Amino acid sequence: MSNSVADFFKKGNIETHKSGKNSFNSSNLVKGMILAAAFIGAGLNNDAQASNNYHRFGEPYTAEVVIAPGDTLQYQIVSTGFQKDSLLEDMVQNSVKTKTGAAVLKGVAKNGTTLQMGDAGANSVGFYNATNNRIVLNKNFSKDKLQSCLIHEGKHSIQGHNLGENDDAFYTFASTTIKNRAMEADAMMTQTMFSYELMQKGDSTAWKCLEKGYPWMTTAYTNNVDTCGTDTNKVMKNTMLAWYSEKGYVKSYDFTVANFYANLISKGSNNLIMEMACKEHNPDSVITKVCNMNGVPYAGTDGSLLQTKETFYIEQDMYKNTEALTQAMYNRVGRVDYSAWNMYVVNKNGVTLDVNYAKWMGLSRSQIKAYEKIKPQDTKADAKSNVKKDKKEASKTITLTQAINLLNNSRG
Ligand SMILES: [Zn+2]
Repeated sequence: MSNSVADFFKKGNIETHKSGKNSFNSSNLVKGMILAAAFIGAGLNNDAQASNNYHRFGEPYTAEVVIAPGDTLQYQIVSTGFQKDSLLEDMVQNSVKTKTGAAVLKGVAKNGTTLQMGDAGANSVGFYNATNNRIVLNKNFSKDKLQSCLIHEGKHSIQGHNLGENDDAFYTFASTTIKNRAMEADAMMTQTMFSYELMQKGDSTAWKCLEKGYPWMTTAYTNNVDTCGTDTNKVMKNTMLAWYSEKGYVKSYDFTVANFYANLISKGSNNLIMEMACKEHNPDSVITKVCNMNGVPYAGTDGSLLQTKETFYIEQDMYKNTEALTQAMYNRVGRVDYSAWNMYVVNKNGVTLDVNYAKWMGLSRSQIKAYEKIKPQDTKADAKSNVKKDKKEASKTITLTQAINLLNNSRG
């Protein structure tokens, strides 16, 4: 990946922004990551209006949607002009036909989260900005993509409000990673379940779109519906966990977190860096509040599920980025954040190993080589004997040529 965190440091950003407070652009850093204090709905027009009225650009207005006879939901839209606003209202109307869509939009309305069609960056379908409590959907994307994105971002609003104050800057890298991964896994699960329900109501556009982009989610969901049937908690839990299986996607999220810390460390004041990365989330509280549907924790209340080999791994290049981060932090204020030490190692074949980085660093060269050999298709027993065999070999004396080969191979 280009512009990695290590590259960021190589470019000398640390030196050039030493006194950094003025150049510390918090609005860029916090986009979607920091929860601000409660949103103040000043200036909102609370009179319910007929939804087809024209509203001026940037003007907030209240829209209504009927969920069931006698159950009308009022929610806030920030206007970007007539056509796009009505598309947004259409999508809300479509969403509440499903159980999951209605639940999420009720939560969004309760939290006072505003909805807007606008600019979300070239590659982003939408985002939830906790700072101003707003969901922005990219006006340049088509309805089939935006429809389920509304529910995904809506779930992020609910998670943020459930968690309360959780400013990422003050938490360790690993702790933020646990929380952010759970948030994304849950939002993806919710989006998938919603799209499935919508398909059952006769509209399969959102599902087809999801199937193309995130097949591991749609497959996990349908497989679990088949095997778990009416045990919806189990279906939700297993689908949420399936998100972690796609390492590339997970890594792109870790990358965002690492970049966030890189910005803080390079541009933040010394005082800020002294206070950052000190706290840890209680994982029990994270799983209870984030993996939650209608107030019920569907994946249990034991946070150790978020710290297993399946959920708490980090690839070696990303791990190196966290080392670069902690080194930079040390250089500036003499503090370190070694929390990523506890995360599980992923070998070059993409297999998550039984060892964390703390243990990995203490292994001999031959033990590391044995672990690196493990392939995805190896059984647990294969992998174990592989490592054992190599341990035995390591205790034997080796020739000078063997030693040189070993050294050269480990460098490649
Ligand atoms: Zn998300």
